[in-house]
Amino acid sequence: YNVPKAVNEPVKSYAPGTPERDAVLATFKELYNANVDVPLYIGGEEIRTGNTKNLTPPFDHKHIVGQYHQAEKEHIEKAISTALEAKKKWAALSWEHRASIFLKAADLLAGPYRAKINAATMIAQAKTVHQAEIDSACELIDFLRFNVQFMTQVYAEQPISSEGVWNRVEHRPLEGFVYAITPFNFTAIAGNLPASPALMGNVVVWKPSATQIYSANVIVEVFKEAGLPAGVINVVYGNSSMISDTLLASPDFAGIHFTGSTGVFNDMWAKIGQNISKYKTYPRIVGETGGKDFVVAHPSAIPAQVATALSRGAFEYQGQKCSAASRAYLPKSTWSQVKELLVADIASMKMGSPEDPSNFVSAVISESSFDKLAGFIDQAKKDNDAEIIAGGNYDKSVGYFIEPTVIVTTNPKYTTMETELFGPVLTIYVYEDAKWEETLALVDSTSEYALTGAIFSQDRYAIEQATKALENAAGNFYINDKPTGAVVGQQPFGGARASGTNDKAGSVLNLMRWVSPRTIKETF
Ligand code: GLU
Repeated sequence: YNVPKAVNEPVKSYAPGTPERDAVLATFKELYNANVDVPLYIGGEEIRTGNTKNLTPPFDHKHIVGQYHQAEKEHIEKAISTALEAKKKWAALSWEHRASIFLKAADLLAGPYRAKINAATMIAQAKTVHQAEIDSACELIDFLRFNVQFMTQVYAEQPISSEGVWNRVEHRPLEGFVYAITPFNFTAIAGNLPASPALMGNVVVWKPSATQIYSANVIVEVFKEAGLPAGVINVVYGNSSMISDTLLASPDFAGIHFTGSTGVFNDMWAKIGQNISKYKTYPRIVGETGGKDFVVAHPSAIPAQVATALSRGAFEYQGQKCSAASRAYLPKSTWSQVKELLVADIASMKMGSPEDPSNFVSAVISESSFDKLAGFIDQAKKDNDAEIIAGGNYDKSVGYFIEPTVIVTTNPKYTTMETELFGPVLTIYVYEDAKWEETLALVDSTSEYALTGAIFSQDRYAIEQATKALENAAGNFYINDKPTGAVVGQQPFGGARASGTNDKAGSVLNLMRWVSPRTIKETF
């Protein structure tokens, strides 16, 4: 298969005086006051239902940047029927022509749309320019380009033949439509979840998170400009349970591509179970859910490395990555050094609007998230087995701002060591150096999740011991590095246990889920 060789999109610096910085800040200003009206996008048509909701940035929640239209049940039904109609031509289109559309979309994002997708992500999701760049520009571009390579790897998977017999496998799309449900925290994931099944010849109904609509709408614009035919990806907003109930009750439902919370994914799975006898085919269930990601340091670990991994891993994008470091196990012998470095690093983190590139953190996504996090912080202030050593303040008067906060606990099973918080709160347990092995067992048994985790050590025996002891505790395991920031094509991403089906986003394994192969044996 001759396809352009995918290489990871270089991350631009946005340093003062660079053209990319000027462009993104100018676009930010423009979009901030654009009052965008976001329609549903079904069968290539923009649909304005008139039942609208406002879009507001999390860091300035009284400011309205636009509104979006909400679907009624009839629109969801229309999305299904137009998708199925579009599939007749789309699934028959040769793979090169499907691939070209997504490669062009990647080029549009890398060039003319880069400032717009980043500015929209900064506004909608309160990402700093660097966090927007590595997500909505680089990672999304990488997904689109690498998927084309992975697609050819899927197609290349063929059986052997013998004299008089030719065996072959046709990697056909699924029979029906795919439902993509995407999260607020990564514009790249939002774009990839509908795009990867579509690339394989499927048609999709896509429901973005309500707090990502502003940037989802830019993805829609890019796909349209890249020439994606009407009806291949249909975009709906509105009442989540009505949308899911309608889509999951359709006999043509053929798969779900999900990133979001474990609770919602479990609900989807249960609904699919209830409807199972209605479907024409067993649906693919592909989901990435929560995490309670660990950092464990051995006494041989370099304190400065551990401190940096914690401050970046726990607080970049306000800790709202599924992969964020949120529980740490640190040895007593080096704790005072790590603590000093970590507290100093946090003290230097500026918080505010993403419009100011010197801010390292911004607001959390919503009021409900803010209230939940503030509740855990208040509780830690009262509990005898917890102490706050950094941050601990919050204020929602302008935006949903929560300071990067570190809780140190004497109880390894303290609530915030176990519960996924999805915010800028890191909990640390300091262990006796002699209890290294018990600590590994504790890391493994404390959480129901298994998404990411990191071990820090300069001792190869300890590294191997941790790698083995934690073999089921993380789908992405990092040695001497923070547990966030997986790169497409380099670290296929996903976890097991309560963290999902581990169908590795950004790899051939994910694309394999979007085909229903037919084996053909021909004798001569
Ligand atoms: N892939 C991202 C990372 O490695 C996390 C994705 C997520 O939050 O769902 O940091």
